[in-house]
Amino acid sequence: MQTLGSFVEDSWWFSTDPGQPVLDATTGEEVARLATRGLPTEAMVRFARDVGGPALRALGFQDRGALLGALGAYLSEHVDTLHDASAVAGATARDAWFDVEGGIGVLYSYASLAKRSLPEGNVLRDGEVERLDRGGRFAGRHIFVPRRGVEVQINAFNFPVWGPLEKLAPALLAGMPTIIKPASQTAPVTHRLVQLIIDSGLLPPGALQLVAGGAEDLLDHLGPQDTIAFTGSAATAELLRSHPSVRTRGTHLTVETDSLNASILGPDAVPGTNEFDLYVSQLVDELTIKAGQRCTAIRRALVPASLVGPVVEAATERLSAVTVGDPRRPDVVMGPLASLAQRAEVRARIDELARAADVVVGGDLDDVLGADPERGAFVAPTLLVARDADRDEPHRIEAFGPVATVLGYQDPQHAAKLAARGAGSLVASVVSADARVVDELVMELAPWHGRILVLDATSAPASTGHGSPLPRLLHGGPGRAGGGEELGGMRAVTRHLARTAVQGTPSVLGRIAAQWVPGAPRHLGEHPFRKPTSALQLGDAISAGPRIVTADDIAAFAALSGDHFYAHTNPEAAAANPLFGGIVAHGYLVVSLAAGLFVDPEPGPVLANYGVDNLRFLTPVRPGDALSVTLTAKEITPRAGMPYDEVRWDAEVTRDGDGAIVARYDVLTMVARTWPLEAD
Ligand code: NDP
Repeated sequence: MQTLGSFVEDSWWFSTDPGQPVLDATTGEEVARLATRGLPTEAMVRFARDVGGPALRALGFQDRGALLGALGAYLSEHVDTLHDASAVAGATARDAWFDVEGGIGVLYSYASLAKRSLPEGNVLRDGEVERLDRGGRFAGRHIFVPRRGVEVQINAFNFPVWGPLEKLAPALLAGMPTIIKPASQTAPVTHRLVQLIIDSGLLPPGALQLVAGGAEDLLDHLGPQDTIAFTGSAATAELLRSHPSVRTRGTHLTVETDSLNASILGPDAVPGTNEFDLYVSQLVDELTIKAGQRCTAIRRALVPASLVGPVVEAATERLSAVTVGDPRRPDVVMGPLASLAQRAEVRARIDELARAADVVVGGDLDDVLGADPERGAFVAPTLLVARDADRDEPHRIEAFGPVATVLGYQDPQHAAKLAARGAGSLVASVVSADARVVDELVMELAPWHGRILVLDATSAPASTGHGSPLPRLLHGGPGRAGGGEELGGMRAVTRHLARTAVQGTPSVLGRIAAQWVPGAPRHLGEHPFRKPTSALQLGDAISAGPRIVTADDIAAFAALSGDHFYAHTNPEAAAANPLFGGIVAHGYLVVSLAAGLFVDPEPGPVLANYGVDNLRFLTPVRPGDALSVTLTAKEITPRAGMPYDEVRWDAEVTRDGDGAIVARYDVLTMVARTWPLEAD
């Protein structure tokens, strides 16, 4: 049987060891062998740091985002081969969809995040500039930059495609190379994924390597710039936490472990309501998707004590329609577990749970569709009912398969206490249309859960479900769930970056973060609206004014806009206003007058004004005040594929005489890259 290669220093590497077999989850036949004895782990880490890291950093956030998009498109063309590989690990077409299409979705999500929210280059600004002296000569700002290390991801067996991709996407975007170590049980699926990625030719050398088998001494070579992203058992997490690289050398460790997720049925959701039906169908879905091998699956179904009977009855009826068998057959709803070892593990956990709960659905499987029930890793969908909801077992024992326990609660407070007995979980769901119950439970569940889904008849048609982590929302949980955080949009990117506070003159801060900073020199000369972005420099500015604001201006603006607010039109009422003490100009009049001062009216490279950010009116403007404005090119953001870029201008409107700042805001414009515009 073929031994799977590891991808090492840009080529496939094979051990001479005969290795360990991996079996088909359905037939028990050997499908591959894994061997990593002699793996050059130190060289892998060095190659990632010395070759992969610099190559990724040479690209910048925008190019890396585009790369993720291209990778998503490439893998989308090869989903069939990934589905075929997944079937070997026991996945039905529906299971594989969550894993494969779900993983590709993460790539697309991070590609789009890069487009929307990340700059060119490798410096990501974090917050605003902090002024550190009165004279404006010394300031500080936080920035994120790529770490100089490698991310080693250690994955669980249950999501051999989504697992690697959800970790790879933010790491790549951040500019960090990755070494993937899949779980041995489903390594052939991840191996296929990595083969595809390598064949795509999209990633630079060193950006991705693969350990197909045991990790050997890989972690011994990690240091303070490196990260380990782990998903798996609490026992392995414990080993990793005490590993010398983590304990003494500062390697950053993220952990996702087991989780006794709860789903709570509200007291209002009695039989006959939409919410009751939603609850039962979600419970059955969570039990059967991926044969319950989802870290987010419902393990504890918390229902009002009086509704235990109806819930069990409805769930039993639905579960009786679940066909178990060969995952390749279209008439099969649920396939086997990933391996015989997992089946032994799950059977043992069900026996432990049965000490405190009655099995109402489940037991031995005499027959499965198209497969031998003993040679394949089959387990029947299993529903238990706790004899006493407060007993320890259902809150402590995780059977990582198609297994859930129904527990009756007395009132919502009791339900919240029971949910917290899981000691920290990835997700909880509340199925209820009662606002009081929902609000109380969400507040009680929040400290114990990484994600909370509130489901009712209104949200149901659009809901993504209890068990599906989303790229833009946090995935992780406190306490027993490991304390780690993954995904969450930008949060996962910044977790792969290093944050530092840089102090210096405004000029220094502006250069480092590619943004003009107040206090840095301005260049007053040719009107900056005459310059295309190919000629525009940060700091190019125009100062204009004064413009005296008259009482007639204010009255005319009120008439034109229809804004007759008393502070602009009624002298007596305005005098009584404690903030103004008399008639003041409309804020939008001030902004309009400022535009009248700084705009260059002739056709030129400025194509459009598309908004303002951070607009603040800081000093009231009274009739007779003279206003001046300074507009400074603050930031240029390239628009890939367009003949123009986005230019952000710092606008500062001041009152002549005392120099008080009347208004401050950013003006956003689209400016041609060349002028006249070059035809394609
Ligand atoms: P393990 O912790 O045994 O394995 C997880 C990963 O860690 C595998 O890739 C494994 O590799 C690797 N590993 C194990 N020991 C070491 C080590 N000393 N050094 C480096 N890597 C190591 O978990 P399982 O996959 O067996 O899953 C068991 C339990 O994990 C489940 O029952 C469930 O409770 C939990 N789990 C949690 C998930 C979550 O997202 N929160 C998801 C899936 C599982 P190898 O396979 O080669 O041993």
